[in-house]
Amino acid sequence: MLFLRCPYCHKLVLRLFYSSHTAKHTLLRPDGQQVEYSTLPPTDRYEGSLDGVPQLYRHPKCGVVTRMPEDIIRSYLVNPFLYGAGSFCCGCGEHLPENDLFWCETGQNMAEYTAELRNDYIRKYGAPPRSND
Ligand SMILES: [Zn+2]
Ligand SMILES: [Zn+2]
Repeated sequence: MLFLRCPYCHKLVLRLFYSSHTAKHTLLRPDGQQVEYSTLPPTDRYEGSLDGVPQLYRHPKCGVVTRMPEDIIRSYLVNPFLYGAGSFCCGCGEHLPENDLFWCETGQNMAEYTAELRNDYIRKYGAPPRSND
């Protein structure tokens, strides 16, 4: 494939420029968060109600609660394999392993929750989605 779909801005990018292009999106802001996180294109995101879907998570070590951005939630509800490298803690100002974070609404560990979403996906589709490259 000559062009790859950028998971951040969803434009088609020439393969040759793909890594320098996506690197721009993952630069860190002064507060430690990435400039942008990869998401599914808006039309591919989960469009249902987020009732009952946990959206706030707490880092017990610093006690600070962080809100998961809705576009990210709607992306991983469709593809739970999109993330997994950890999540940002507003208290610590850095990305932490999902194992260190807990959903406020359910008390469930985030790593456990992600594993459940992935198991559901595999049960439904038989295999994880194919990646971009
Ligand atoms: Zn892009
Ligand atoms: Zn923290």
